[in-house]
Amino acid sequence: MLRKEELKAKVCQEIDNRKEETISLAKAILESPETGFREINTAKLVSRKFAELGISHRRDIGLTGVKGSVSGGNSGPSVCVMGELDSLIVPDHPYADKTTGAAHACGHNVQIAMMYSVAAAIVKTGVLPSLAGRVIFIAVPAEEGIEIEYRYGLIKQGKLHYSTGKAEFIRLGEMDDIDITMMTHTSSELENKKIAAVESMNGVIRKKVQFIGKSAHAGGQPHKGINALNAAMIALASINAQRETFQDADTIRVHPIITKGGDAVNAVPADVRIESYVRGKTAQALLDANGKVNRAFRAGAMAVGAKVNIITIPGSMPLITYPELWSTYKGNVTSIISEEEIGNVGHRTGSSDIGDVSQIMPAIHPLCAGATGTPHGSDYLIKDYDMALINPAKMMAMTVIDLLSDNAIRAKEVLLKSKPPMTKEQYVKSLDSLFTEEEYQG
Ligand SMILES: [Zn+2]
Ligand SMILES: [Zn+2]
Repeated sequence: MLRKEELKAKVCQEIDNRKEETISLAKAILESPETGFREINTAKLVSRKFAELGISHRRDIGLTGVKGSVSGGNSGPSVCVMGELDSLIVPDHPYADKTTGAAHACGHNVQIAMMYSVAAAIVKTGVLPSLAGRVIFIAVPAEEGIEIEYRYGLIKQGKLHYSTGKAEFIRLGEMDDIDITMMTHTSSELENKKIAAVESMNGVIRKKVQFIGKSAHAGGQPHKGINALNAAMIALASINAQRETFQDADTIRVHPIITKGGDAVNAVPADVRIESYVRGKTAQALLDANGKVNRAFRAGAMAVGAKVNIITIPGSMPLITYPELWSTYKGNVTSIISEEEIGNVGHRTGSSDIGDVSQIMPAIHPLCAGATGTPHGSDYLIKDYDMALINPAKMMAMTVIDLLSDNAIRAKEVLLKSKPPMTKEQYVKSLDSLFTEEEYQG
């Protein structure tokens, strides 16, 4: 049985040995970006790389996800290392797909390479017999909350149940055999820090709303119409009237847009559509704000006698952190970079579906430096692959060793001291209860 430090040295050596291979994997994915639930080629590539490593795996989970697993010498907890398959749509990005506009403008391509790098290190170095438990490698679809219409269509067709990949993985039971999850996201905003903790992130609920009125001649007989645009404007004003009730600590964000304002300028608008996100720091605050937003939509319909159809689609749950898991991870971070190079970005008002995972098990989602440009912008690129890929891969691989060596004593400790707020069943129930379609006649 090898000592823990020897095991760590082995996995780090393997990650270094494969540096060129993993960087070219990241670049290959950069050059063929695919958006959420359409990551066919990226998933194929992951599957091929898993096969090369001899990792048994399954494909097409949650439409495009890939899940591989390997077992240690003894039984014990399962630790998952994740990477996200999907790209954004940023047509003017230098590596954008000319046809679809898809582009990797927040570094998910590197996440996949990072996950592969950890997998290779764990599988090819002979460390597995010294570990107790299993290591699971997941390439997960659709983190970005884009192409709502497409995803809503998939949901309507019964091909999907939720709108993001991790939620779908949880629902399908694909996280049931996992106890701890790790994922590292690249960042261009860490200044002089190289790794940063994310303490928490807002959860998000997505809304598709349609006001239905009655058309009539806008000049001649407006009194015979029902103005859906007026209803929508009253609804937006009513949403704004809720803002003073949102408490700072809850970091509520409601940001609606009108996607259709009417059909013809000389007719009373009878079909007006709005999309909105509702975000908040805790599930409770999010639900409270969502209720107020629904009330505001009804108010618009009520004021003019229009009908409103409010479709609510669960997005991502708030991210919470697990100090025990973080401290294990941090111990490995400081073996590569100095304490001063570790930052903490605190609470983030954006959202990610790693939040969903964190609701049901200990999970961490640190940020690593090495990228430049604006997140989700046309200039977002990976500049330093050591910082954005190689180092974070080593940190996660060493954390796997920490957690599962010595009969997984550390993983068991982390699990004992961590209290996820929900069980999987509670999670599914709460997401399902959010998924609503309400028709209100004002
Ligand atoms: Zn992103
Ligand atoms: Zn991202």
